[in-house]
Amino acid sequence: MSLRSYTLIRSPRARRLSLRINPEIGLEAVVPERLGEERARREVEAFIATRLAWVDRSLAEIARRRAALGTDGRMEVGGVIPYAGRAHTIVVAPSSHRGGIAIANGEILIPTVIARDPERVRMRLNSWLRRRARAVAEQMINVYAPEMRVEPQRIRIGDQSTRWGSASPDGTISLSWRLVLAPPSCFEAVIVHELAHLRSRGHGARFRAVVERHCPDELVRMRLLQRLAPALGAVR
Ligand SMILES: [Zn+2]
Repeated sequence: MSLRSYTLIRSPRARRLSLRINPEIGLEAVVPERLGEERARREVEAFIATRLAWVDRSLAEIARRRAALGTDGRMEVGGVIPYAGRAHTIVVAPSSHRGGIAIANGEILIPTVIARDPERVRMRLNSWLRRRARAVAEQMINVYAPEMRVEPQRIRIGDQSTRWGSASPDGTISLSWRLVLAPPSCFEAVIVHELAHLRSRGHGARFRAVVERHCPDELVRMRLLQRLAPALGAVR
C-alpha cells in the first residue's frame, strides 16, 4: 500500500472517519476519539488507499499554492509578497483611494503619492508590515495570555533572521515582523510557544504540556513555518 503522510486527529465529535485537506497543514484524517490510535491509523491508511487520486490531486494543489508562497519577495510595485500566508501583489492604489497602505482582494495598495519612489515604497511597506505584525501579535496575546495565565510585559517587533521569537525572563516577547507574512496558524503557534516560556524556561515535559494544552499541533505548525522560511526570508 502506498502511504501518504497525514495528521491524525482523534475528535470526540467525529462520528466516522473522514479526510480533509487543511491548506496550511496538508492531509488530515479525523476519526472518532474512541478508536485507539493503532486501529485508527490502520483504518485511515486503508481509507486513504481507496482515495489516492483525490488525495494526490489535492496535495499537488497545495504544493502549488505553497510554491506560490515563494512569490518573488520584491517589496516594490509589481512585486509579489506573502501576507498572512497568501501571495499578494503590490499595486498602485486607484486614485480614489485615500489614506495609507491598505490590503484588498489579494493586493497590497500603495498610495499614488509614494508609488513612484521605490525607496519610499520599501520603507513605508516595511513599517506598515511591522505595525501589522504588532497588531496581530497583540490580538493573539490578548486571547492567549489570560488563558495561559501569563503576563507578558511588552512586545518587541524585530527582524531576528535566525529565530521567529523569544521570551525573556523580564516578560518581553520578541517577535520577527516576518511572522505577519506567514499563515496565521503559524504566527499563533509562535505566540503560544513564547508565552509558554513565561511559564517554563526550557523545552522539557512541563513546557510541552503547557504548549500542547493550548495549541495541540504546535509542532506541525512550526514545521510548516520552517518550510516556508525561505519564502518569508526572501521578502525585502
Ligand atoms: Zn522555545
